[in-house]
Amino acid sequence: MYRKNRLLQQDKKHLWHPFTQMHEWEQDEPLVIESGKGCFLKDLKGRKYIDGVSSLWVNVHGHRKRELDRAIIRQLGKVAHTTLLGLSSIPSIELAGELVRIAPPGLTRVFYSDDGSTAVEVALKLAFQFWHNRGGTYRRKRKFIRFKNAYHGDTLGAVSVGGIDLFHDLYHPLLFDTIEGPSFYCYRCEFGKEAASCDRDCLAGLQSVTRSYRDEIAAMIIEPLVQGAGGMIVAPSGHLAAMERLCRENNILLIADEVAVGFGRTGKMFACENERVSPDILVLSKGITGGYLPLAATLTTEKVYRAFCAPYRMKKTFFHGHSYTGNALACAVSLANLTLFRKERILEKLLPKIKIVTRLLKIFRDLPHVGDVRQCGFMAGIELVRRKKNKVPYPYSWRMGHRICMRARRYGLILRPLGDVIVIMPPLSIPERHLRRMIGLIYRCIREETE
Ligand SMILES: *Cc1c(COP(=O)(O)O)cnc(C)c1O
Repeated sequence: MYRKNRLLQQDKKHLWHPFTQMHEWEQDEPLVIESGKGCFLKDLKGRKYIDGVSSLWVNVHGHRKRELDRAIIRQLGKVAHTTLLGLSSIPSIELAGELVRIAPPGLTRVFYSDDGSTAVEVALKLAFQFWHNRGGTYRRKRKFIRFKNAYHGDTLGAVSVGGIDLFHDLYHPLLFDTIEGPSFYCYRCEFGKEAASCDRDCLAGLQSVTRSYRDEIAAMIIEPLVQGAGGMIVAPSGHLAAMERLCRENNILLIADEVAVGFGRTGKMFACENERVSPDILVLSKGITGGYLPLAATLTTEKVYRAFCAPYRMKKTFFHGHSYTGNALACAVSLANLTLFRKERILEKLLPKIKIVTRLLKIFRDLPHVGDVRQCGFMAGIELVRRKKNKVPYPYSWRMGHRICMRARRYGLILRPLGDVIVIMPPLSIPERHLRRMIGLIYRCIREETE
């Protein structure tokens, strides 16, 4: 008991938690995790919870997965970390080969970094310098198209191409200039249109922007199929392929940020596969190590890569890298993660579970305070509204999403909402019975809290 109290005290005294209003945190009792197994987490008091957010969207095969634990221990017996600046390492070489093998066609080069945000920074700098290195009038191509409701991380470059007002507005004076494209948020269409014409208008708007500014735009950065942190906003079918087409027609690089949707979330290994899209730059993180260690990769094509190859004096080198780039333990566990995808036929086994989610979510639509239900593969969002008829949101200060998630916690389920959107994002490996239980609990909590 003494140790528990000391931990709780020290948390409040010294820790500053991310995306957390610490004023409130200090008044509540924090939930401290001590261990995990499969899709469950256990806290200091020995209470068990379903990890309904995959430890913030990173976990794939569950916790304490034997093959992953062993991969790290095996690598630890050799060396934990060596630099990729001027040296190479076995796990980083092998993983690069594997990533290229499974990635959409055309992506042949792997640049490592440490998390989604840094991998986005790499993508932005690569795109900018690609045109710079080509020289001449291409040097005017230095702007980015980004989207409303987009999220690409919290470092300043990533914030510059983000589009969530609550997170990003404040930092505006620190950001570089971008061109904003419309979100595919058809439930709350920016143009006040019905779903079908919303998509059409959205793409038409984007088309005119890309045409008018094509000589100034280096790249378009997108979250393929789902704008995750923006509220689990699912793109209409064909939207992704249409965005790729606009990039090709206007000589604009396409950056696909698959940090959230990659590694099986949409039912395919990568979201781009759903519409046969091959981006010029692919950004990967979160699920890349199965949720074990921080690692990210930015993949690109031979064409982009070649624009950086020249005699040293030409100054075309990509001067970028982090201390832990290509960490051996992280690469080793990432390789084991990819092996598990194959060996355990994860994507195949996911299909029936995706169908269960679809079926169970149907009854949510009839709840009086559920405005919209959105699902793409094994990720889903339930948008709560105060009044369904005019889609009137709950007052910001009510924190309805948060309240429902706190209630779920009392029933042994950990969730984290996006505003008033309840997120369903369990590990891909969650057994069917726990998946059913999880969705049942969410239904119950929404009913109880919104009554
Ligand atoms: C989480 C996320 C990021 C940022 O990744 P971090 O590892 O948190 O820096 C970037 N893009 C998308 C789409 C994400 O979901």
